[in-house]
Amino acid sequence: MTVSTKVISSKAIAACPASRLDPAHFLSDGSCLCAGLDGMTHARWSRLRPEEQEQLRDLSDLTPQLIGLEGWRVEVTEGVDDNGEPRRRRFYVGRSTGWRPIHLEIARRDSSGGEAASASYDSVRKLYPRDGSR
Ligand SMILES: [Zn+2]
Repeated sequence: MTVSTKVISSKAIAACPASRLDPAHFLSDGSCLCAGLDGMTHARWSRLRPEEQEQLRDLSDLTPQLIGLEGWRVEVTEGVDDNGEPRRRRFYVGRSTGWRPIHLEIARRDSSGGEAASASYDSVRKLYPRDGSR
């Protein structure tokens, strides 16, 4: 059995627009969940605990078709070329960090960054994992 040792300051409770008293509603920096991500800054984000970041993170900018494929090389088709053939390309699926992550198209296994992924593709084919033996 885990006993929560989190102490909520009276100042934090007074600042909560919903006047909530349950510890789960308050973050370790004394703020509450009412504000969500409004006014989030990198400094504040980096002080939150990983589980609090998880709770607050907004996943709505991710590409639904790529969820679960992070770390995989995929082949996607998007639109058609001049000959009417599907435009194909391959990339590793990455995800940016922070409170509003996006998926990234990472060109090579040793690339550290990538381009923002599209909101959707005509098709996505899973090829092999980035850390695989290939
Ligand atoms: Zn609140």
